[in-house]
Amino acid sequence: MKFSLLCLLCYLGFHQHEVVDVKFGFGKSGKIMTVKCKNCGTVEIKTGD
Ligand SMILES: [Zn+2]
Repeated sequence: MKFSLLCLLCYLGFHQHEVVDVKFGFGKSGKIMTVKCKNCGTVEIKTGD
C-alpha cells in the first residue's frame, strides 16, 4: 500500500476536489455542484455559490 502526502491530506479532510457536474436548482437552492476527490474518489454535493 502506497502512502503519500495526498492520502494524508484526504485523511485530514483536505480533498483535492474537481467539479464533475453542475446543476442549477430550484428557487433559493441555487447552484448544485457535484465534486469528486481526484485522490480518494469521495463524491460530495455542494450547494450555493
Ligand atoms: Zn480525498
